[in-house]
Amino acid sequence: MKKALVCGAGGFIGHHLVKCLKNKGYWVRGVDLKYPEFSPTQADEFLILDLREPENCKKALTLHEGKFDEVYQLAADMGGMGFISWAECETLTNNVLINIYMIKTSAEMEIQRYFFSSSVCIYRDMEPGEPKLYEKDAYPAMPDNEYGWEKLYSERVALSYAKRYGMKVRIARFENCFGPEGTYKGGREKAPAAICRKVATAKLKGEDHIEVWGDGSAIRNYVYVDDLVSAVYMLMQSDVEEPVNIGTEEYISVKELVDMIFEIAGVKLNVKWVSGPVGVQSRNFSHEKIYSLGWKPGYTIKKGLEITYKWIEERVKKDIEEGNL
Ligand code: NAD
Repeated sequence: MKKALVCGAGGFIGHHLVKCLKNKGYWVRGVDLKYPEFSPTQADEFLILDLREPENCKKALTLHEGKFDEVYQLAADMGGMGFISWAECETLTNNVLINIYMIKTSAEMEIQRYFFSSSVCIYRDMEPGEPKLYEKDAYPAMPDNEYGWEKLYSERVALSYAKRYGMKVRIARFENCFGPEGTYKGGREKAPAAICRKVATAKLKGEDHIEVWGDGSAIRNYVYVDDLVSAVYMLMQSDVEEPVNIGTEEYISVKELVDMIFEIAGVKLNVKWVSGPVGVQSRNFSHEKIYSLGWKPGYTIKKGLEITYKWIEERVKKDIEEGNL
């Protein structure tokens, strides 16, 4: 039985990745600062550890017998644009510490396969209609925010350790990931979850409008969490040594995203476009590398949002009943 360590297993993607690995028959240890918020972990063992401390990285990686076959590093101090735009010191400090100590300790403990979750935030901003950027177009580098700079630096750290220690390091640059059991309130939520929450709240409270940051023109891809974790797994098993974009070919504007959520919720509300941290203007990335491994997304944005909206509306209903929204 293969053994996998998932760092960040109490978070959104890590929690779903644990489920995916369990379905594939792995023995899994999860590590995080907290347990998953919305449903119990399926990990065989779950350790609460702060991975900014090197001795905790060692604890996370130590087994009674043998070694982990695969280490998935998804732990990060992280959130949507609202969080990223103000938490620059936290992002640059906490995530660098986690990533340096995890890769260094893994290399020293002779881990053979290591996955690092990077982000398309490492790329520069784009104009609407611009041709696709390929993975190599990350350079010359000009990420739009400090979170992106940290991810780019940590990619380089991971690749350097791969070269020195002969460790198989796999790096994915995620586009926006969404799905059930992700943060949907509190300030760290990303756009799809935030808009689903606002629409559900207005619908259940009988309000006639919602507020959305920006003017609705920003273009993004959104990848459903089950598709994303299956891509992570495929990449981890592959021979691809360079970073790989993970997302789908479906790019939509924030306005289109809002309209889709109205349709799914069965409401038509007014939208007040208000100023806020919206991030880059446009995105368009090549996904040739991940598709070449045989990966194909199973969900359109609409299909993924139907599941996500339903889950968030149920949470919002409960929050309203309990006086929390
Ligand atoms: P998340 O915030 O839900 O999960 C991250 C987890 O890391 C959290 O549970 C958090 O408690 C944990 N963590 C933070 N600091 C820690 C520490 N010091 N020690 C141990 N655990 C710690 O985020 P997510 O959406 O699941 O993202 C997972 C990874 O994917 C992150 O590296 C993130 O940067 C990357 N990513 C996510 C997206 C997305 O759209 N969600 C996009 C691009 C990249």
